[in-house]
Formats: sequence, C-alpha cells, structure tokens
Amino acid sequence: MMTITYKVKNGIYVNMTNRCPCACTFCLRKNSPGVYGSDPLWLEREPTVAEVCSALDGWELSEYDEIVFCGYGEPTERLDDIIEVAKYIKSKSDIKIRINTNGLSDLIHGEPTAKRLAGVIDTVSVSLNATNKEDYLKVVRPKFGIDSFDAMLKFTKDCTAYVPNVVMTVVDVVTIKEEQEKSREICESIGAVLRIRPFES
Ligand code: SF4
Repeated sequence: MMTITYKVKNGIYVNMTNRCPCACTFCLRKNSPGVYGSDPLWLEREPTVAEVCSALDGWELSEYDEIVFCGYGEPTERLDDIIEVAKYIKSKSDIKIRINTNGLSDLIHGEPTAKRLAGVIDTVSVSLNATNKEDYLKVVRPKFGIDSFDAMLKFTKDCTAYVPNVVMTVVDVVTIKEEQEKSREICESIGAVLRIRPFES
C-alpha cells in the first residue's frame, strides 16, 4: 500500500515521486520513512495521475485549508502530472493548491517552466537555504552543480509573474541570524516572501 496522500496539520499533502536532483544535508528522507506520523513515504512506484486523483477523492476537501504537492522527493520532477492533478482539483473545489519545491524545475526540464503553473497553482514555496551559490552547493548538493543557486532564484522570480503567492523558506537550524536577514533581502529583491521554518515542516 503506497502513501500517495497524507495529512499534515490542516493540509492534504501529495506524494507523487521520490526522485530528486539534490541531496540536502538536512533532508528528512535520510532520518525517517515518514513525517508527522504518516505512513512511509517511500513509493513502490510512482502513482499515475488517475491514482493520485482517486486518492484525493477519498478526502473531504472542504474540511482542509490546502493541498500541497510535497512528499519524499521533488514534485516538479513530475511537473506536467502535477498540473493535470491540480486542474482536476480545481474542477471540483476551490481549495488552495501549493507546491513545495527546491526551485530547480528549469534545470530538471532544461527550459523555463514557471509559466506552466499559471492559473492552477496558488502558492509556490521554494527552499532557499543559502545566501550564495557556494553555500547552496554545500548544503543542497544539487546534481546540476554551482549554477543551481542562480537557476533556483530565476525560477522563483519567474513564478512571481504567474503565481499569486511566492514564498521562499530557510530552515531555522541550518541558518544564523545574518543569513536569515540576507535571505530576506534576496526574497524582497525578487518579489517573494521569506518564511523561516522549523526543521520538520
Ligand atoms: S530538495 Fe527536498 S527531497 Fe530533495 S534532497 Fe533536498 S530536502 Fe530532500
């Protein structure tokens, strides 16, 4: 039995892939099989769009605040499938839809991708996690190398043209106060809002 959807606080989280081009030093996947008491989030195989929609049908959407594409992997590895699922959700509910991402979608797909989110995604939350490309490489360890930081910022900036809410997050335990201030400046410069999040959210 695969965990395709699970509840976190007042949101329904969607786990569509375990693929990810990064190996963050703080990645929860290294420490436990699930989060917030969820069943294990390692997938036997990636669920189809139909399977994801069917899993979402099992929830009373009006009782929740949002649906979040997150899970144990990078959701934009399946960007087009996310969009399809999001369109399905929009066809039956006005619940808000968020993607939690490492922001490397353009590198994953080899082209600018933010535009694909227009009209179906309400919030994009990008992990910032460093204030320069060298530190980013050390903490996030993306397979795309040193250019990843700039590509992540560009994707985030592009999102501000297509998505109502664009948030960037840093994890409190891996940043110091000065880095958090610098992160805030970076966010403001591209039109995003900074959220300093606890380690496990
Ligand atoms: S981007 Fe997310 S899933 Fe990928 S290694 Fe980092 S924390 Fe883990």
